[in-house]
Amino acid sequence: MAAPVVQKKSSTQYVYPFGENGGTPSTLDRYLLGGKGKGLAEMASLGLPIPPGFIISTEACNAYRQNHRHFPEELELAVQKAIEEMERISGLQFGSESRPLLVSVRSGAPASMPGMMDTILNLGLNERSVVGFAEASENERLAYDCYRRLIMMYSEIVSGVDRLAYVEALEVIKRREGVNLDIEITVVGLKQACVMFKQIHQQRVGKPFPEDVHEQLFEAIKAVFNSWDSERALLYRKLNRIPDEWGTAVTVQKMVFGNKNNSSATGVGFSRDPSTGAPYFYGEFLPNAQGEEVVAGIRTPHPINKYQKEITHSQLESLEELMPEVYGQLCQIVKQLEKHYHNMQDVEFTVEDGKLWMLQTRNGKRTVFAAIRIACDMLQEGLIDEKAALKQIDPEQLIQLLAPVFDEKGKLAASEHLAAHGLNAGPGAASGKIALSKEKVIEMKARGEKAILVREETSPDDFPGMAAAEGILTLRGGSTSHAAVVARGMGKPCIVGCGTLQIDWLKKTVSSLEYPKLVLREGDIISLDGSTGEVFFCELLPTDSEIIQVIIDKTKPPEASALYQHYKKIMQLADKYRQLQVRANADTEVDCAVACEFGAEGIGLCRTEHMFLEVTRLNRVRCMLFSRHPEERKQAIRELLPHQKQDFAALFRVIRGLPITIRLLDPPLHEFMPHTDEELQTLALLMKSSQEQLAYVAASLEEQNPMLGHRGCRLGITYPDLTQMQTRAILEAAVEVFNEGIPVVLEIMVPLVCDEKEFEHQKMVIDKAAQEVFAEKGQAIPYSVGTMIELPRAALMAGEIAKEAQFFSFGTNDLTQTTFGISRDDGNKFVPLYVEGVPHPLNSEERLQILKEDPFQTIDQQGVGALMQIAMERGRQTRPTLKCGICGEHGGDPKSIQFFHRLGLNYVSCSPYRVPVARLSAALASLHE
Ligand code: ADP
Ligand code: MG
Ligand code: MG
Repeated sequence: MAAPVVQKKSSTQYVYPFGENGGTPSTLDRYLLGGKGKGLAEMASLGLPIPPGFIISTEACNAYRQNHRHFPEELELAVQKAIEEMERISGLQFGSESRPLLVSVRSGAPASMPGMMDTILNLGLNERSVVGFAEASENERLAYDCYRRLIMMYSEIVSGVDRLAYVEALEVIKRREGVNLDIEITVVGLKQACVMFKQIHQQRVGKPFPEDVHEQLFEAIKAVFNSWDSERALLYRKLNRIPDEWGTAVTVQKMVFGNKNNSSATGVGFSRDPSTGAPYFYGEFLPNAQGEEVVAGIRTPHPINKYQKEITHSQLESLEELMPEVYGQLCQIVKQLEKHYHNMQDVEFTVEDGKLWMLQTRNGKRTVFAAIRIACDMLQEGLIDEKAALKQIDPEQLIQLLAPVFDEKGKLAASEHLAAHGLNAGPGAASGKIALSKEKVIEMKARGEKAILVREETSPDDFPGMAAAEGILTLRGGSTSHAAVVARGMGKPCIVGCGTLQIDWLKKTVSSLEYPKLVLREGDIISLDGSTGEVFFCELLPTDSEIIQVIIDKTKPPEASALYQHYKKIMQLADKYRQLQVRANADTEVDCAVACEFGAEGIGLCRTEHMFLEVTRLNRVRCMLFSRHPEERKQAIRELLPHQKQDFAALFRVIRGLPITIRLLDPPLHEFMPHTDEELQTLALLMKSSQEQLAYVAASLEEQNPMLGHRGCRLGITYPDLTQMQTRAILEAAVEVFNEGIPVVLEIMVPLVCDEKEFEHQKMVIDKAAQEVFAEKGQAIPYSVGTMIELPRAALMAGEIAKEAQFFSFGTNDLTQTTFGISRDDGNKFVPLYVEGVPHPLNSEERLQILKEDPFQTIDQQGVGALMQIAMERGRQTRPTLKCGICGEHGGDPKSIQFFHRLGLNYVSCSPYRVPVARLSAALASLHE
C-alpha cells in the first residue's frame, strides 16, 4: 500500500540523543528508534559503557521516503544540533584539523535484519582532519587505516561502487610490500591506499570523495534510508513478513577504535551457544580490527573463550587468554543484559586500548534446538517464567525439529567421501548440486534441482542465492559470519570456515586440500551435515530426525534424548496455556497414528475420497457414475460398502476414542473419470457396455468448471444411495469397533452446503441409515451431524443451517477460493505478484502492493474472516452449543491461529506434522491476549 503523504507538524522530534551525558531518550519505542537504537539507549540507561550518539527516528526515514527522497525540513537542523552536542561532550570537533570527531552512521530497523542494510564507519575524515587525527591519537597508522576504510565504505554504500575495485588496489599494495594481511601494511602503504582509493572514487563516481564532512554525514544518512528499499532488504522483509512501511532508524555514534593497536579488538558474541543452546558465552573477535571485519569472514576470527576454542579446535588465542580483565567484564555485562531482557543476547563490542565499549545488543537468533533448550534452561534458572519461555520460541521453527538428518550408519558408509570438517553453523542435513554463485543456485532451483551454495564467504549480495539453496557452505568465516547468521535465521543447514577446501574459479571445481583425490565440479552432488560440520563429496540419504526417532519410529528411548525432553517440556507448557484445541487432518491409519503421537486431540477432517482411488474401488466408483439405470448404480455402490467399512474400522482402532470428523464424499468428478482408452476399455468390459457408449456418457458428465460443479452434498443429494452407503459403512464399523471395547466418538460432516434444505436432506438420509444399522445390530452409537462452511452463502445462512447442524467446520481453502473468486490452481499466476507489489500506475519507481499476504497461506481476516465471524454469530444464536472448528490449510499457520483464537473457535485442525506448531501457536495466541 502506498502510504499517504503526511505533512509533519513542525513539532515532530526526529532526533534522540543517548549515552554519557546525552542521557536516555524519553521513549524507548522500538518502532521509532529501531532495534539497534533502542538497544543502545537502553544499555546507556543501565550505565554500561556506550560511545555517545543520537538516533534519527524511523519517522524521519518514512517522511523522507514519502517526500520523494528529500529530508523533512527540520531534520538537518536537528542533526546539526545533535552533532554540536556530541562535540561539546567529547571536546572534539566534527571535521576539525586538530581534534576531529569521527562517527559511525548505522542502520537499524525495528526488526533485526542482519547484514541487510548498511553502515559507514570513520565518517568525518578528510585530507585535513586525517592529519589532525593522526596527531591527536599519536597514531598515524590508525588514522590512515580509518581513512582508507571510510573511502571504500562510503563509495560502496553512498555511490554503489563495487568494493572489489578497492580490495584489488589493496592487494596490489600488499604484494608490493610482501605481506598477507591488511594489518601488516605499513603506514606508507596505507597512505598510498588512500590516494589510490580517492582516484578510484573519482573514476567510478565522476566526482571527488567529499571533503565536506557535513556532506559526508547527510549523504550517508540518505544512503542508509535508501538501503531500506534495496533489493535484498525487500526480499528479506518478504521472507520474514516485515512490513515495508516500518522504515529504518539511523544511529550516529562516536567512533571507538578496535584497530588502534594490539590492546584493541573488536568482536561479537552470544550469551549462549546459538547452535545448541549450551549455557556458555559464545563469540569471536579479532585483535586490532574494525567491526565489520569479524562478520565479513575475511580474517579467521579468534575464539572468545577456552570453551569455544575447544569446540572449534582453534589454535588462535582467545580473548579470555589475551585480555582476561576485559573478558571478565564482558561476561558480566552479558549476564546483566540477559537478566534485563529475559532473553539470550547477541552483542557487539570493541576494545580500544584496553577499554571495553558495548556497541549493540539484541535478542539473539538461534536454531530451534538452541531455542527450546535455552527456554527450558532459563525457566529452570529462574530467569524467566513459563509464559516467557513459550514466547521465546517461534512456532514455525518447530518444523525444523522434525526435518531429516544424516545418520551415523550412512555417514560411516560414506567415510571415504568425507572431504572436510567446518564449523557447524546451521544444523540439519542437505544434499544437492554444487552452485558456485547465487545465479547458479537460482538457475538450478528454476529447473527443480536442489542446490548447495558454495562460496569463499557470503556477502549480503548473495542473499537471494542463500534463500533458494538447500544448504550453504563457505570456506572462510566464523560461526558469527554473515553466512552463519543468515542461515540460522532461515533455518538452513550451513557449514562455514571450511579452510581445507579450495575453489578453482577457472575450472569451476571444489577440491579438498587434505584429500587431493576428492574433487567435485559445479553441478556435482555434495552433502552437508550442518549439525556436525562434516562435508561429504557424495550424495547422502537423510533419515528421520531425533524427535521423529523418539515419538514416531520409537527407535530411540525418550530418556536418551535431551532434545526430546526439551521438546516435551515446551509442548506441555503450550498445552497448559492454550484454549484452542488442536486436531489433525488425516485419512489413513498411518497419518492418524502420527497425528496422535504429535498430540492431536482428534481428527478434524477425515476425507473419504482417497479411499476410492485404489484401482478396483475406482472402477466401482466409475460404474456408479456411468450407470445407465438406478439398479446398476445401487449395485456399484453396494460393492463399495465393505471396503469403506474396513477403512473406517481401522481408523477407529488407531485413534481409540478421540473424536473424528468424517466428511462424506466430495470428489472433484474429473479426478474419477477414465483418462485413457485402456481405462475406458476396462470399464466397458466391467459394465458390459461399448466404449463408444461410455465415451458418450463421459462427455455428458464433463464439467466446464468442476470446482463449482456437481460435487459435495450436491452429489449426495442427487445420489442419496451414496450418502446412505457411507453412513452405513461408518456406523457398521463403529459398532464393530465399539464391540471390541474401543470407544468411538463420531462426527459426520456434510460438504459444500449452501442452503439449509441441502443439509436437512442429507441429515434425513443419514439418520434413516443410522436407525437401520442400529436396529440390525442391536447396538446404537452416538454420533453428531454437522456441516462444512466453505461457501459464502453458507456463512450468511448459518443461522438457518444451525437449526439442524450440530457443528460447523470452516473449510477455509474453499471458502477463500469462493470468497475471492480466485481458483487455487490458477491463482499462482498473479497472487504472488499481488503480494510482491505491481508497478505503481502513477509512479514507476514505486510498487503497489495489492494483497498483504497470500490469502491461501494466511487467513484473510477482513473478508474471509468476516464471513467466519458472521457464520459463528448467526450459528451460535440459533444453537448456543454449536461447536466450531477449522480444517483448511490455515489451521497450521501461526498467524491465522492467532485470529482463530480471537474468533472463539473451539479447535483448529491441520496436517499431522504441523500439530506441534499449532499447539504452540494456540498457546501464544492466548498469551498475547
Ligand atoms: P550491522 O547491523 O550490519 O551489524 P552495525 O551498524 O552494527 O551494522 O555496524 C557494523 C560494524 O561496525 C559492527 O561490528 C559494529 O560493532 C561496528 N561499529 C558500529 N559503530 C561503531 C562505532 N561507533 N565505533 C566502533 N565500531 C562501530
Ligand atoms: Mg551490528
Ligand atoms: Mg471443500
